[in-house]
Amino acid sequence: MPDIKRVGVCGSGLMGSGIAQVSAAAGFEVAVFEVDQAALDRGMAGIKKSLDKFVEKKALSEADRDATLKRFKTTTNLDDLKESDLVIEAIVENMPAKKELFKKLDVLLAPHAIICSNTSSLCVIEMAAATKRPQQIAGLHFFNPVPLMKLVEVVKTIVTSQETIDTLFAFAAKLGKKAILAQDTPGFIVNRLLVPYLLYAIRMYESGLASKEDIDEGMKLGCGHPMGPLTLLDFVGLDTTYYIAEIMFDEFKDPLMAPPPLLKRMVLAGHYGKKSGKGFYDYT
Ligand code: NAD
Repeated sequence: MPDIKRVGVCGSGLMGSGIAQVSAAAGFEVAVFEVDQAALDRGMAGIKKSLDKFVEKKALSEADRDATLKRFKTTTNLDDLKESDLVIEAIVENMPAKKELFKKLDVLLAPHAIICSNTSSLCVIEMAAATKRPQQIAGLHFFNPVPLMKLVEVVKTIVTSQETIDTLFAFAAKLGKKAILAQDTPGFIVNRLLVPYLLYAIRMYESGLASKEDIDEGMKLGCGHPMGPLTLLDFVGLDTTYYIAEIMFDEFKDPLMAPPPLLKRMVLAGHYGKKSGKGFYDYT
């Protein structure tokens, strides 16, 4: 089983920054790659803020926070990830962009290295096929917010080796996460159930059956969910949800997975949720 010491993370958005944070906090050396310095700065600012919150809550000592921050290297040059034993890709949910990155990483990385995608819905085997090491490619699907959510789905394609799966389960355990094994089908386990539910909440609001507040209160107080579906959509990102729904609908042709017209219009308007300041609710 390859010994994972150095972790590369591609993308420092919502998910990439969280993945980088938990990896550094667990003692791994982490190199974070982004398209530009501004995105890296945003990602690192988010990581510092999150670590500070853990210190405030006395869940982390100041010395551990400082040691965690020292384990980061940030870069806009992919070559700086070449020493990584494991690279986790968390860039935009777009297959051509992911395939191009996998192809470059395959050429760059040592033969033992594993490459994972944090994709929510894309076909992992399609990324694996862009490389010459498909048995060392898998999905490693984290949940938002990564530092707080305990689950990781390890996604096995039809060619992922058992050794790769075992390495990823061991890696997840070192991060303090619980791993579950999913197959390479859109939505894996959790989103296959969650996305149709979220889309149905949008349809309910869109058709005027209930106010957004009542839909959210209903699921919070009636089902014990920590937040209602429309609030959750704002946290996940409406753009991300829209992409996922399109991919799931394309694969299964199930009308429950089709993005509702309102979701498309909100995305076109740039109302992506919390990250853009406006979604179903206002965050400005
Ligand atoms: P995001 O938009 O917050 O961040 C994406 C980041 O990737 C941006 O900072 C962007 O600059 C960067 N990027 C784009 N192209 C790049 C490239 N070629 N190389 C390096 N960086 C690049 O998106 P996110 O919500 O963090 O989602 C990232 C991935 O994680 C997606 O595949 C998404 O499906 C998946 N995911 C999202 C969630 C969620 O709740 N948002 C949960 C699990 C998985």
